[in-house]
Amino acid sequence: MNEKKGMKSMIPNWRQIREEVVQVLTDLIRINTSNPPGNETRAAKYIKDFLEKENIQAEIYEAAPARGNLVARIPGSGELKPLILLAHLDVVGANAEHWSKEPFGNNIDDKYIWGRGALDMKGMLAMEMLALVILKRSGFLPKRDLLLVAAADEEAGGTMGMDWLIKQSIPGLREAEFVINEGGEGFIRDGIPVYSCQNGEKGVLWLKLSVKGTPGHASMPSNDNSIITIMNALSRIKRHKMPLTLTETTRIFLSEIAMAKGYNLSTGAKARDLSLQIFAKRYFSDERSVQAMLYNTVSPTIIKAGHKVNVLPEVCELTLDCRLLPGETPAGFLKKLTDIINNPAIEMEIISQAEPTVSPIETELYRIMKKAVQLEDDKAILVPYLSPGGTDSRFFRKLGITAYGFIPIIIDESELQRMHGIDERISLHNLEQGTRILFETVREIANAG
Ligand SMILES: [Zn+2]
Repeated sequence: MNEKKGMKSMIPNWRQIREEVVQVLTDLIRINTSNPPGNETRAAKYIKDFLEKENIQAEIYEAAPARGNLVARIPGSGELKPLILLAHLDVVGANAEHWSKEPFGNNIDDKYIWGRGALDMKGMLAMEMLALVILKRSGFLPKRDLLLVAAADEEAGGTMGMDWLIKQSIPGLREAEFVINEGGEGFIRDGIPVYSCQNGEKGVLWLKLSVKGTPGHASMPSNDNSIITIMNALSRIKRHKMPLTLTETTRIFLSEIAMAKGYNLSTGAKARDLSLQIFAKRYFSDERSVQAMLYNTVSPTIIKAGHKVNVLPEVCELTLDCRLLPGETPAGFLKKLTDIINNPAIEMEIISQAEPTVSPIETELYRIMKKAVQLEDDKAILVPYLSPGGTDSRFFRKLGITAYGFIPIIIDESELQRMHGIDERISLHNLEQGTRILFETVREIANAG
């Protein structure tokens, strides 16, 4: 790139950066931000101190006492709209009894940093902090403001975090062009590093079904036993095969992987879709995360009925967690389920609902991310990814801002299961390489658009 006169070197000392990013992450893990209760302000203060030593301005905004959100900024020339590096400060709880290391301790060996949040998502937060610090040290003047937003309360829905923060008048937040957040990690497929860009999230429809039955002595069965009515509804849902539905994201996800494998796809839209469906069934039949991208799903989660072994239950309640593909709406899916169940005696109440959100991938940022992963390995590919669960990205997508989940690390399924699970950890290699990929991405998009 063209370096301006008087500008310091843009080539970072990666040995030093590696030590710094490791230090930041181990410090962040030791600040216990398990939500509930969160207590994110302590972590926000740590970040503010760290960044201000590097001459990066940061502010803390508390939605409630101890529930701090941090916004830091490298001001740009204003020629382009802001880029936000987004993270959340809180983590889910951890039961130390089940862990082989102290989840909020200082555990580092020659390969890994262990602790709650290593993957979700203090590791990424540390990478984002260092990416900004390297740019700031170089004296680089970006064409857009570069923001770091570290929000509270993501793990509990964001009421004290992003949902609240985005409604405050903080310059740059609602005017951003791009957001980089959690949600997409990479994996190895047949020797090819596959990085994902989470550009969409499924919608949510949580339902409570309830039905009444005639109470009475269980020695004299009734024809309207409420448990049996609910079981029948459930078996109708189970028997109904939800169709495999391709979306823009899954079409590209599957074809990128198919092409990298040298798999032949038919030409012509219809035939191509058919071959993608066959490819998905053949190669991803055991992968729940990929299967979830292809279907509207329904999971029964809580069932309640009865209180005594010899008494017929008066009422039976069942909750369903439905996740919807882009193109589906909560109202539309509720109508479909009602038709499938086909029993007017069953009442259906919506507990919670959210539309699916999707960002386009024909953007300068996507192109730059792809280039950045290929700088590490020219065989690497970038695929868009539709996540079955939600992140804070949804608050930005609703405003029409392009938000991508992009944690540029390579991990396998067993490492991924440690997220929200036991013995969460991140490899030192991933932490360093991730910082480099993120830095390259931010450096490029800072002036491109
Ligand atoms: Zn997370």
